[in-house]
Amino acid sequence: MRGSEGQTQAAWVPWSIWTSLPKNRRESCGKDDGVRRILLLDEDAELLETEEVLAEGFVTAVRAPLTRFKVRDALLRLREMDSLSADLRRKTEEIALERELLVRKSNHLSFLNRVLSRATATLDPVTILVKARSDLRYLLPITALSAAFWTRAEHGPGLSAELYMPCLLSPPESDEWQQALIEAAEQKAGAKVSEYRQICLTPERKHKPVLAPSAGRLLVLPLSVGGENFGCLALMTVKNLRLAKDQVQTLNACVNHLALALRNALLYHQVKIQADRDGLTKIGNRRSFESRLADEAVRHGRYDQPLSLILVDLDHFKLVNDIHGHPAGDEVLRDMAALLGEGLRSSDYPARYGGEEFAVILPHTSREQAALLAERLRQRVAERVFRAGASKAGLNITVSVGVASLASGGTSQDLVLLADQALYVAKNNGRNRVVLAGPRSLLQPGEAEARALDESLRLESEDRGEAEGQDKRLGVGREAGLGTVQDRAVM
Ligand code: GH3
Ligand code: MG
Ligand code: MG
Repeated sequence: MRGSEGQTQAAWVPWSIWTSLPKNRRESCGKDDGVRRILLLDEDAELLETEEVLAEGFVTAVRAPLTRFKVRDALLRLREMDSLSADLRRKTEEIALERELLVRKSNHLSFLNRVLSRATATLDPVTILVKARSDLRYLLPITALSAAFWTRAEHGPGLSAELYMPCLLSPPESDEWQQALIEAAEQKAGAKVSEYRQICLTPERKHKPVLAPSAGRLLVLPLSVGGENFGCLALMTVKNLRLAKDQVQTLNACVNHLALALRNALLYHQVKIQADRDGLTKIGNRRSFESRLADEAVRHGRYDQPLSLILVDLDHFKLVNDIHGHPAGDEVLRDMAALLGEGLRSSDYPARYGGEEFAVILPHTSREQAALLAERLRQRVAERVFRAGASKAGLNITVSVGVASLASGGTSQDLVLLADQALYVAKNNGRNRVVLAGPRSLLQPGEAEARALDESLRLESEDRGEAEGQDKRLGVGREAGLGTVQDRAVM
């Protein structure tokens, strides 16, 4: 043995002694890396191949008699071997580290890939956000996710925002979320939010009540594509959350991916809305009306829920154009569309059916309830003074209305035909009136019949009045009353 701790040490082992050791002893010596072994061959011993020497765990072999030169040479080799194996060890460690980094990078990439492919699999912003909520949980402990998107408001200088909020919030939490999202939008966009719409994000399967943002920490992350800020994500986490540098990087990459997917989805939505809307009045157009009515008719057939339709035609509208000009006529049509939308449920669907004809699809609405709504609409129009044209002249307009309900087994075409026939009768009977298609079709609008209908509508009014509280059919108050007897005919 030579040297002390930290220096090269070697055991010089004569071959004859080594071979006399039992095999297991030799093997356990071979596994001991602590001591290097140099083989000492007898003067007359047979020559050993290098492979044999190394296989027995010796660094090198030296033949007796030992000389100073032979010893120095053997020790030199020993040091060379040591430095070689230290190099190898370092390289192995480096490779292990690289491998670890590659594994992490690969995990990171497959995580981003998952986020992106799930986000781009749909064009519905709600679905994208709901999936992002569960994906981002792998990265950080999110207790809630919400988002705000904005565009310039059509009227005025402010922003029009869409707030995607957690569902089923009680009023104080809901107000706080709304406030937080509006503030975030205003801060990121640098402008005031002048109008907004709330959209509810589907709750999770294992739904836990969502707390107000002040109960945790709200991370607000801007969403931008091509340098344009169009929204922000708000992630609620625990209060004392600290993110590591690579978590922040991954989060940023995720948000960039989500921004792209959300931007696409919002654009798609916008284009779809434009395609479904009438350019002048901004309510549904004929195409979207027909497809919606067909869907509702199928639902009606499947669940046996009542389905009604109102067709509205402006009386003598040609005169408005002739006297006040076409632009004034356009203004009246726009106001009429707005008036039509007043007091409808979110499931009702108003549309421009043709030039000066409008339609309202009323799912879950009986024939009598529809008649009541139609009558109130007719009254509201008759009472309204429309201001149109350069002079803002006051115009009195009336409408004729046809109402029909779908009998079981009927199709959407049947419903349109019935409502159209009723409208035709309303026109022929003097205009400014509501006509119901259906079983009463043979009855004449006599006093007794009108009183009976009046009574039935009053009862419906009361029933519907209760429903209105839930449905938010705003603007259709019970006190609006019923139409005058002579204004209504029964088909
Ligand atoms: P009726 O009581 O029989 O329904 O009479 P009306 O004059 O309303 O009906 P008619 O079918 O004779 O005329 C419809 C008018 O509606 C003629 C047309 O110029 C006008 N109109 C249709 N579309 C538009 C529009 O987009 N803008 C304007 N300003 N007028 C329109
Ligand atoms: Mg017409
Ligand atoms: Mg008309």
